[in-house]
Amino acid sequence: MDMEPFEYSLPIASPDATDTGLPLPPETGNPWRLALEGSGMGVWDWNLVTGDQSHSPRWKDMLGYADHEIGPGAQAFFSRLHPDDLPRVEAASAAYLSGHAKDYTLDVRMRHKNGGWQWVLVHGMVVSRDAQGKPLRVIGTHTDITERKLTEEHLRSLNQELADKTRRLQDMQAMGRIGGWELDLVAGTVVWTDEMYRILETTPQDYQPTAESTSRFIAPASFTRIMAAVKQAKPQDPALDMELELVTAKGRNLWVQMVLTLVWAQDQQVKRLAMVHDITERRNTANAIWQQAHFDSLTGLPNRRMLRDRLEQEIRKSRRDHRQLAILFIDLDHFKEVNDTLGHDYGDQLLVEAARRLRGCMRETDTVARMGGDEFTVLLTELTSTSHLEGVLQKLLDALAAVFQLGDEQVFVSGSIGVTVYPSDGTDIENLYKNADQAMYAAKAAGRNRFSFFTPAMQEAVLSRVRLVADLRVALAERQFRVEYQPIVDVATGAVRKAEALIRWQHPTRGPIGPATFIPAAEASGLIVALGEWIFREAVEQVALWRGSLDPNFQISVNKSPVQFQHQPAVGESWIEQLGAKGLAGGCIVAEITEGLLLGSSAAVTERLQSLLTGGVQVSLDDFGTGYSSLSYLHKFDIDFVKIDKAFVANLTPASTDLALCKAIIVMAHELGMMVVAEGVETVQQRDLLLSAGCDFGQGYLFAAALPVAEFEAYCRSAQR
Ligand code: C2E
Ligand code: CA
Ligand code: CA
Repeated sequence: MDMEPFEYSLPIASPDATDTGLPLPPETGNPWRLALEGSGMGVWDWNLVTGDQSHSPRWKDMLGYADHEIGPGAQAFFSRLHPDDLPRVEAASAAYLSGHAKDYTLDVRMRHKNGGWQWVLVHGMVVSRDAQGKPLRVIGTHTDITERKLTEEHLRSLNQELADKTRRLQDMQAMGRIGGWELDLVAGTVVWTDEMYRILETTPQDYQPTAESTSRFIAPASFTRIMAAVKQAKPQDPALDMELELVTAKGRNLWVQMVLTLVWAQDQQVKRLAMVHDITERRNTANAIWQQAHFDSLTGLPNRRMLRDRLEQEIRKSRRDHRQLAILFIDLDHFKEVNDTLGHDYGDQLLVEAARRLRGCMRETDTVARMGGDEFTVLLTELTSTSHLEGVLQKLLDALAAVFQLGDEQVFVSGSIGVTVYPSDGTDIENLYKNADQAMYAAKAAGRNRFSFFTPAMQEAVLSRVRLVADLRVALAERQFRVEYQPIVDVATGAVRKAEALIRWQHPTRGPIGPATFIPAAEASGLIVALGEWIFREAVEQVALWRGSLDPNFQISVNKSPVQFQHQPAVGESWIEQLGAKGLAGGCIVAEITEGLLLGSSAAVTERLQSLLTGGVQVSLDDFGTGYSSLSYLHKFDIDFVKIDKAFVANLTPASTDLALCKAIIVMAHELGMMVVAEGVETVQQRDLLLSAGCDFGQGYLFAAALPVAEFEAYCRSAQR
């Protein structure tokens, strides 16, 4: 049936029509109303014809009233309706009564007796119509939904708050450049925040993080550190807090502070949550500030403060390692004149250049600092009792004495150096500084351009070494050296098979000086290279003669210092090439080396030794038994002879441990294809014990000391007989 929509106006009841309650229609009846009331709903009844409305006590109760306190009539409802809800009530009822809406249901707010608002669900339905279908009467319910509404409202505001918080947190993270990531160890997934992508200069389109691939954004050293920390972590530990170096997708390095929270389940890590904050700038600034506080801005050298830090550190290290430490105070001579006559710009240039030269004289591990003005300090670390300072001191003096080209001006200055040594001169910094200062003034007073030690004895020792080196240079030029030869005999027969070349120095004023005195000075000054070459040439001349006159297989041993191995020979000067040029076989010469050379050898040294061996030169291991003494290790180098040290031979008696050891060395050496020479054989008993132990060759005063050529030849002839 098509229903004609009809005009409807809301029947706001006239006060006079409110006096009587309407009886419920027969079809609804009282039991129905009671059932509704029992369920907690209020019931209302609206006569559309008269406009009368009645409300059940339950509804009144909802609003805090007793039944008699609210009379009947539409006014009872509308006067308590929230004004803002009136339009909705009007619209809903109009839509329903006109047939445009299927039902009449809406939430409204009603004024409670206590002044608050109560949420009421209004539900209504037409219960009678006229013949045309026009509604005559509506009956409905009121349900108190205040609690539900409040809960809903509460939830909504909670959600809103949460959303706000999340938003604010994200804003804050973006503002603070705080990135985050989450690694789910169970699912094996990684999630990055937007800011994390921004920090690492990539986008979710370009990179999808995975547990394996994220490590490429962490610098290797930092990665190792995180993994170690994560492995060591225990469930009760606080979050890890560390500074890490990251590498962005564009290859830029940056530093972040990371707070890493580990989530545990039954002692197993299940998640790692990280918050990451870019601190590159902060670090750079901190570095710049540190740099300013610790370095001299003119020369770039460490300043007084930095020097003190280093000195404290080095003194601790030296104490622990029982090493010495030298502190050098360097003052430029005549700097004031340059500054006064040429001006401060030139003065500054001079200081910068002087700093550069001083730095150039030192090892990486030494410190050169500027104390202010024209004063510099040098810290020489890791000195052993045998390291000699005079080489470095001379280098420093030479560097400062060389001409300074400042623009168009040529300037000459020099340096005065005061030296003090920890711990022999003092153990605390103040005293050491005072000593160095005093020594520096002594150098100035003695005429500048020189060094002075705080301790007179040290000064004397250094000066005598300096003189010795100076004399060595002269000796080489003036042929004050001689080579003597000590026979090396076949222990079984006494026949001379070889000789060791030993250098002798006849000093013009001091008389003969033993190699044990001057070889170390020659090594420290580098003169050993020239000296060694001279000895080698002498030995080669001699062996060529003796191969003809004494024995076609005669060999001469030449001692070769480790310093000679470190030195790169000039082209055409290697031993092999020199032998080749004379038409001699490599086997004419035996190079005597010490274990130290093999143990601490660099690749270059090993290579030079190898090339000697491949050239046929034989190699003998000198002073065996005093050092590391591992034959199996030495075997790797194809050594031909082992020389048992004379200290060892000196104590040879029957049934001595030294004899047992000698026997063991001889057996092992033979097993490994090496022959054995015993040094320092002075007695017949020693020789006999060595012979019975299977020793191949002997050398020592029992046979002969080192001899000049003519005497050596005479000895050989007598030994043959
Ligand atoms: P070294 O290589 O161990 O040389 C053996 C030393 O023992 C020589 O001392 C020799 O004279 C001495 N000697 C020989 N027989 C006996 C003995 O029966 N008893 C005792 N107590 N000593 C004996 P020297 O000539 O004073 O040489 C000392 C060290 O100087 C040598 O020890 C060697 O390391 C070095 N040296 C000598 N000449 C040269 C050389 O031309 N070049 C290099 N680089 N070093 C050399
Ligand atoms: Ca030797
Ligand atoms: Ca020796």
